[in-house]
Amino acid sequence: SDHFLEYPPDPDSFDIAKLYPAYAGSGKRPEFVDIGCGFGGLLIALAPLFPDTLILGMEIRVQVTKYVEDRITALRLTGKESQSISETNAPGRGAYQNIAVIRANAMKFLPNYIQKGQLSKMFFLFPDPHFKARKHKARIISPTLLAEYAYALRPGGIIYTITDVKDLHDWMNEHLSAFPLFERVGEDELRKEGHGPVLDAVITSTEEGKKVERNKGDKCPDWLRILAYDEVLD
Ligand code: SAM
Repeated sequence: SDHFLEYPPDPDSFDIAKLYPAYAGSGKRPEFVDIGCGFGGLLIALAPLFPDTLILGMEIRVQVTKYVEDRITALRLTGKESQSISETNAPGRGAYQNIAVIRANAMKFLPNYIQKGQLSKMFFLFPDPHFKARKHKARIISPTLLAEYAYALRPGGIIYTITDVKDLHDWMNEHLSAFPLFERVGEDELRKEGHGPVLDAVITSTEEGKKVERNKGDKCPDWLRILAYDEVLD
């Protein structure tokens, strides 16, 4: 439970250099956050697409976080996923420095890590469905949490969601639609703006997404853009 987790008291105390040593002293902070990143497929797919952007995965399960940490360490050393890390096969040395994972309960402690307006992208990919009505408050898209996500995102920032659970899709859609700072954005528009590779990664790169594919499930995506506060007031 959360009792054993240590959290920075505020985003300035969050030791970013430790997670991204190659960027120590650069002043960069993570700009994309993958909430509930699971086994890290999205982080790894995005890393080469945005080599100058810091990307952070947040995952609550200890073992899963550890697995992603090891995966990233191996990638940083070898440039590819491999069982045995050796100095001889180090073609991509220097790559994957821009992705990292932390163990954290993102539903409770996001503002401890992320400053206001820090993020340009947030990902909620195949979140846990919590089917029972009394468990709905545990859902990661909820009216209270949306205000926190809006705080963390900068104007023009994009929220990406996808799920194979129709009931959860409808729930997320309802709450995202009701939130005045978010505007739904079409897939065509995002592709025209050059976000196609991100959409493809969202749809195909995660471990859960691959499982849904194997089981021939449906994938229901939803993309939203955050408006500037004055656009909402106009
Ligand atoms: N996004 C990944 C994917 O598409 O493969 C993982 C999907 S998995 C169904 C949902 C993940 O969210 C799990 O790994 C779970 O441990 C994590 N999770 C659930 N609640 C969380 C929370 N409050 N903070 C961080 N991670 C959480």
